[in-house]
Amino acid sequence: MSELLQARVAAALESLHLNTAKANLMRHLQAAQERKLSTLAVLDALLTDELTSRKERSIIVNTKLAHFPVLKTLDSFSFDAQPTIDRRMINDLQTLAFVERAEGIALLGPSGVGKTHIAIGLGMKALQAGVRVYFLSAQDLLDQIHAAQLDGIPGHKQRHLNNVPVLIVDEIGYVEFDKKAATWFFQLLCQRYERRSTIITSNKAFAEWGEIFGDPVIAGAMLDRYLHHCHVLNLKGESYRMRSRKRASGGDNAS
Ligand code: ADP
Ligand code: MG
Repeated sequence: MSELLQARVAAALESLHLNTAKANLMRHLQAAQERKLSTLAVLDALLTDELTSRKERSIIVNTKLAHFPVLKTLDSFSFDAQPTIDRRMINDLQTLAFVERAEGIALLGPSGVGKTHIAIGLGMKALQAGVRVYFLSAQDLLDQIHAAQLDGIPGHKQRHLNNVPVLIVDEIGYVEFDKKAATWFFQLLCQRYERRSTIITSNKAFAEWGEIFGDPVIAGAMLDRYLHHCHVLNLKGESYRMRSRKRASGGDNAS
């Protein structure tokens, strides 16, 4: 009788797509018998297993959908190697209050100082908390706009860019936007303003945005909105890549 019941429960778990619970059913029933656990404790253990595995799977899927060019974590970031970054600010940002408040984060500085690493690390934190993230470079953005012959990005893509809770636009400043692309980017920032978080990285100061976007008026309007609720981190120093190369070749005598 109990075998029949077990088979029925297993079949029900399978039909309900509770596959982890199904896989662990026997183990939990055995543990319950050995340790005289209550029915409620067995249910709790089964459902906790299922929820944990679902969360892990959704993080894996959402990490793929985020399109990070490479996976980086804040744990692997050396703050000693990057003293110009305010560690407390990063700790505050890691609480993800910025996502709740739909605030922006601007990571500015020359090449190789860790801007993209920090942006992806914060994106990973958000993903781990179940927040969806999408990463694209300014070049990707331009390619998307041009691929749509500047008529606009397909509706579903546009909605995704407008609405994804955390959008990371990397490397603003390496490519110039023409007027239509600049207007499109301005509209994207307007759509997200006070609704969603946008993280940008740039090798250029805000004063140079007029050149990047080919129009000081559009650039000014963008910055007016974007900087209204924005954490700005100015990173300085020599490129980490360059320092690694120097260390590897034994050429770094400084510290
Ligand atoms: P940026 O975006 O500012 O050009 P990246 O974030 O791409 O620089 O950093 C360049 C490389 O150096 C990456 O592989 C990154 O992981 C690494 N890196 C940069 N700064 C640090 C740091 N402080 N600690 C650990 N790795 C770093
Ligand atoms: Mg970068």
